[in-house]
Amino acid sequence: VINIKDLRLRFPEEEERLFAGLDIRIQEGEKVLLLGPSGSGKSTLLNIMGGLIPEVIDVPMKAETLKISDDGAYVFQDPDSQFTMPTVGEELGFVLENKGVEKAEMERRFPDVLKAVGLDVSLETGIQSLSGGMKQKLAIASALLQGSDTLYLDEPASMLDDGSARQVWDTVESIWKDRTVVIVEHRVDYIWDKVDRVILMDASGGIAGDGTPEDILTDHLDLLEGFGVWHPR
Ligand code: ATP
Ligand code: MG
Repeated sequence: VINIKDLRLRFPEEEERLFAGLDIRIQEGEKVLLLGPSGSGKSTLLNIMGGLIPEVIDVPMKAETLKISDDGAYVFQDPDSQFTMPTVGEELGFVLENKGVEKAEMERRFPDVLKAVGLDVSLETGIQSLSGGMKQKLAIASALLQGSDTLYLDEPASMLDDGSARQVWDTVESIWKDRTVVIVEHRVDYIWDKVDRVILMDASGGIAGDGTPEDILTDHLDLLEGFGVWHPR
């Protein structure tokens, strides 16, 4: 369960508050799409949910008011920004080393995760030789290896061409099963019908709508058009 209560946030050098008393509760196993205009705080919210950025916040988040789930795994927009090692095998090894897993045990797990994300490359493959879509699959494989029950996806397909984007979303869907998944994405056509819930943020980081994809289409078509996102008619 992700339970955010009365979140207030102002970045030190900013005048305006980004969030002024935000409440969001996400149940275990829910697949949630977070939509809103650029700058409304979607990425910031995702990072707060996973506990990535409490240190930049001037109003200290109190442990009892902001209960973070567990440490979630992230996939970010830029395929190149999220790797620290030169090869596929070393990158996956790096993930498990951080978790204190033994090398032999480690290497036994690699083929399974690569298969799970449909990445058919050797462990020696240089990450820079992979396509954008393959890099995102590798990022998903790393997330799986981390063994987290919660996945945070911040526009993981927005820098990809249509075919690769579709593959990445198919991959996400194939592994998300019992996991809690929070997605930020402007190009919503592949996933709109697959998520349980859509949360709409307004320009100032408040919640403008929250419901099933059908409810949101019925009640907030105007807002969706305002964001310029794709929506089914
Ligand atoms: P986009 O759709 O463009 O990705 P977003 O909804 O993800 O936008 P955020 O990146 O969360 O929005 O940013 C929300 C606001 O907070 C913006 O005004 C941004 O400039 C500001 N902001 C984000 N991170 C910081 C930071 N570390 N320091 C100061 N201001 C920040
Ligand atoms: Mg963002």
